[in-house]
Amino acid sequence: MIISEQKSREEILKALEGKEKVFLVGCAACATVCKAGGEEEVFQLQEWLSEVRIEVTGSVIIDEACHLLRAARDLRHHRLAVDEAEVLLVLACGAGVQSISGSSDKRVIGGLNSLFLGNVRRFGQFEERCSLCGECILNETAGICPVTTCAKGLLNGPCGGMEEGRCEADREMDCAWQRIYERLKKQGRPGVFKKTVAPKDWSRHRRPGRHKLR
Ligand code: SF4
Ligand code: SF4
Repeated sequence: MIISEQKSREEILKALEGKEKVFLVGCAACATVCKAGGEEEVFQLQEWLSEVRIEVTGSVIIDEACHLLRAARDLRHHRLAVDEAEVLLVLACGAGVQSISGSSDKRVIGGLNSLFLGNVRRFGQFEERCSLCGECILNETAGICPVTTCAKGLLNGPCGGMEEGRCEADREMDCAWQRIYERLKKQGRPGVFKKTVAPKDWSRHRRPGRHKLR
């Protein structure tokens, strides 16, 4: 899921400078799990906006704000309140904000910072394990991603800095390559240690954001 956090109230207030009427949009998917843009956060934001004398004309929590058709449909259902507002303040990831801005001619303000693609460890704890490189090598690395979890993103084994299984760049972290070695050993296969992984084709990397999956 996309891990996000709320922008500071100061930043939101600055973005709303001069505005008096706002429509709020939340997301029932990732932003809700991150406690950044679900029903509770939209309600808290609404309360705060009334304290700073900005009127909320209405609000909606979209099932998945990144879903273009759902976002457009839900905004249509709230057309009067949307029309009454000067801006739409969206508590969703960057993809969600762009669904909304593509569905309305109103100015759209994003209220969250999108941080990374994350795994959920437990409620409120997220870990980055994939950086969407576009050329997955997990089959050779026992399901552990060195692109993301090795501090140097090494593809063909560890650097010389690992000490007692810890990464030289951050002694709090396990060395990704030590973990790959141990897991492959348990699986009884050499995996990446008997192959050479070719340099990555960075043209397949997610930036500059041109990928469309159909
Ligand atoms: S190799 Fe690439 S696609 Fe596979 S988990 Fe790592 S970053 Fe993600
Ligand atoms: S110690 Fe391990 S995880 Fe850290 S940079 Fe070197 S190979 Fe990567």
